[in-house]
Amino acid sequence: MRTRSADPATPPSIGYGYLSTPEDRRRMREVVRVTAELVGTSDFGEVSGGLTEPGARVLGDDRLLDEWVLGHLGTSQHTCGTVPLGPVGDPRAAVDPYGRVHGVAGLRVADTSILPTPPLRGPAATAVLIGELVADAMRRGVT
Ligand SMILES: Cc1cc2nc3c(=O)[nH]c(=O)nc-3n(C[C@H](O)[C@H](O)[C@H](O)COP(=O)(O)OP(=O)(O)OC[C@H]3O[C@@H](n4cnc5c(N)ncnc54)[C@H](O)[C@@H]3O)c2cc1C
Repeated sequence: MRTRSADPATPPSIGYGYLSTPEDRRRMREVVRVTAELVGTSDFGEVSGGLTEPGARVLGDDRLLDEWVLGHLGTSQHTCGTVPLGPVGDPRAAVDPYGRVHGVAGLRVADTSILPTPPLRGPAATAVLIGELVADAMRRGVT
């Protein structure tokens, strides 16, 4: 992720780097081809009306298949960790364990952006936990 401007209203530029290496593209082609093969089997007949795309010409050509994949690729990433918690002095750390922003009095962050590493599962429950922990700290007078 890159900051494009010092204006906080300007969204950051996020480059996931998908398919940027030959190995990434090879594996994705393999995924699509195996999936197409599976969908074409009689076992899938009950739940699938058959393969709609990519067609045989695209499936048989690495370059065309790369183009097809690039045109259809999306992400379900749960972004987090943009203001990670950690101790004062850690150049990556932006907030303390109570969500207080280092060096800015009275400002807290209480969402998944404070996670120092991405969780291994869907982050919704973790987001709720962060909110509860920060709210509890505020109730206890941790200022
Ligand atoms: C399509 C989709 C499906 C998902 N499915 C799952 C799932 O199945 N399981 C799972 O665990 N997780 C899932 N997640 C992830 C989960 O929803 C998020 O990780 C979680 O909601 C993050 O919580 P958060 O508080 O960090 O951010 P958010 O829920 O995004 O809350 C941020 C809040 O800040 C507000 N806000 C933004 N800017 C400002 C501003 N300038 N001033 C004031 N308020 C502002 C927004 O309106 C929003 O209410 C899914 C996410 C998506 C998008």
